[in-house]
Amino acid sequence: MAAFQKHANANTFGSSYSHVESLCEQSSTYVRALQECIRKKSLGEGRQIHACISKKLIAGNIILQNTLISMYVKCGSLVDARRVFDEIAKKDVCSWTVMIAAYARHGVPQQALSVFYQMQQNAGVKPNNLTYSAVLSACNNLEFLNQGMKIHQQIIKCGLASNVFVASALVDKYAKCGKIDNARQLFDKMGQRDLVSWNAMVSGYAQNGLMCEALMLFKEMPEKNVISWNSLVAGYARNGAVDTALKLFDEMPQRNVVSWNAMISGLSQNGLIDEALELFKRMPQRTVVSWNAIISGLAQNGRGEESLQCFQEMKEIGMRADFHTYGSILPVCGNMAALELGVEIHEEIVRQGFESNVVVMTGLVDMYAQCGSLGKARQTFDKMHQRDVVAWNAMIAGYAMHGCAEEAFQLFEQMKSSGMSPNHITFICVLSACVHAGLVDEGYQYFNSMCRHYHIEPKADHYTCMVDLLGRAGRLEEAIHFINRIPTKPDAVIWSCLLGACRIHKNLEIAEWAAEHLFELNPTDPAPYVLLSNIYASAGRWDDIGKVRQVMKEKGIKKTPGCSWIEVGKKIHGFLVGDKSHPQTREIYLELERLNSEMKMAGYVPDTSFVLSDVKEEEKEQVLFHHSERLAIAFGLLNTFPGSTIRIVKNLRICGDCHSAIKFISMIVEREIIVRDTYRYHHFKNGQCSCGNFW
Ligand code: ZN
Ligand code: ZN
Repeated sequence: MAAFQKHANANTFGSSYSHVESLCEQSSTYVRALQECIRKKSLGEGRQIHACISKKLIAGNIILQNTLISMYVKCGSLVDARRVFDEIAKKDVCSWTVMIAAYARHGVPQQALSVFYQMQQNAGVKPNNLTYSAVLSACNNLEFLNQGMKIHQQIIKCGLASNVFVASALVDKYAKCGKIDNARQLFDKMGQRDLVSWNAMVSGYAQNGLMCEALMLFKEMPEKNVISWNSLVAGYARNGAVDTALKLFDEMPQRNVVSWNAMISGLSQNGLIDEALELFKRMPQRTVVSWNAIISGLAQNGRGEESLQCFQEMKEIGMRADFHTYGSILPVCGNMAALELGVEIHEEIVRQGFESNVVVMTGLVDMYAQCGSLGKARQTFDKMHQRDVVAWNAMIAGYAMHGCAEEAFQLFEQMKSSGMSPNHITFICVLSACVHAGLVDEGYQYFNSMCRHYHIEPKADHYTCMVDLLGRAGRLEEAIHFINRIPTKPDAVIWSCLLGACRIHKNLEIAEWAAEHLFELNPTDPAPYVLLSNIYASAGRWDDIGKVRQVMKEKGIKKTPGCSWIEVGKKIHGFLVGDKSHPQTREIYLELERLNSEMKMAGYVPDTSFVLSDVKEEEKEQVLFHHSERLAIAFGLLNTFPGSTIRIVKNLRICGDCHSAIKFISMIVEREIIVRDTYRYHHFKNGQCSCGNFW
């Protein structure tokens, strides 16, 4: 870098060149240097070089300007690219095309289209075949079918339809929009076809799940390359024919990184994550797509911790994330309440200029809400340039799950007045806000308005909300009435809601009835057995608890071990009940003992009816004291700053005893403790919980 600067500066002051010659020489030196940055994908060096070039030199030189845009795009800063682009007084077709392609690749089709229209309307620049192929690649889902068709008309008018490059892009666009017949018509009409056109058609069939047609065309191909093979491998893998895909993968004459990627995502989509990992380790070279495949594969297969590890590893080796990576990793951060890591990712997203991507931004809103940081969620939501219905739903759902019903309703009104129509998911969000706040009348209003004003047919999820809402309010008869209204067979979720309501309202008769249904639907799920025993326990029916335990034993049903997670220092720490594997175990147990005596002094009495095993009373207390959430909290207290919020995620519903214990802990240590269990969020503060014991 230093040597380069010296060289460039020397030219500035060199006297052997005439002024013009010297400028040309300089700019081509800069262009070469920038191209080197592109090759190395080094944004830092690119920025340094940009800073060295005088504004005057840039202003007069379109090649230099376009190279700067490319550099920023390829090195991952869309914001900088746009800044350079906006500063160019006379943009040529190349400047426009680079910008359009950049937006297409960053998953911001609206922006790509708007630049495309600006180019023609305001600047009067004619698109060329590269421009068309770039803009078509942005219109690659059904939502943009109409715009794509308009562009198709334009292509015909300007006589580029027979250009094999443009025609192939059209085939590809129609196939990606699911209009496979239109794609085939175009393909059949093409006067001249090359390998690209054939590949577009084969992969079009494969992407639409039409594997017979794909295979037939594949066999007809005059020549094939690795791309043709990859389309088939990916198609079979995605459609669940993993064995066929693997066979082709072994048979193919030559493999590239795309072949490996296709196989890895295919395996993980079909639940074969260990096989996918194996392949990932074996592959000779990895791209961001390979990392994305394994990160999302791990996440989808419930292995969040490993997914986060993989993401960290990817960054350590200097691989740059793209919007797909963020789409996979943000929900994992949310799930694990990994807020520190989430914040770091947010900063990275801003740096990389993904703030205009609705999907990424919605992912952030959701992540913050899941981590219990509603303020940050709302800030992010307010900053979004544009919002689709998914974004609105994410924010409303965030309020709902934290029991902030008023805010959820307000946002719902704001959404409607902004001209966005709610969809069936929006109603699930507002209904669940009613559930978490126990607002029966509002729930009825929203449910009825959904059917009457929006003509949205209620689905199982809407009925579930109503059953949950009425059940919790103790209106069990009305809840049962809603169960009877469901046109399909009621699922396990609905019966669990009813059973949960019976626990709160101590209704044994309906509890047994709901439990019967659950045993039948999900014979191996321990949750209803546990819930039913808790209900027996609170009614003092010890014999029945014994019976339930006997049935569980006979059927070999084991209680799911409780597990809680906490993020400290961007690392996730998991604890099982009674866990002694953590390096800080000794300190953790000492801390718990200390807390226990303070809690007892403050009036805490352990409620051992939540312990299901056949052990003596004192042992029961010990079991309670070592529930996973308490271990995680003790660990958090030891390893975070005094006064900071502690966030815990639990794989089961929090037990009643831990719920009251944590209230005491929050008071003793003067901290806010947020626990997310499988059902809702509990914000413990000053000895109170946000759920108002309503869970
Ligand atoms: Zn507990
Ligand atoms: Zn609570």
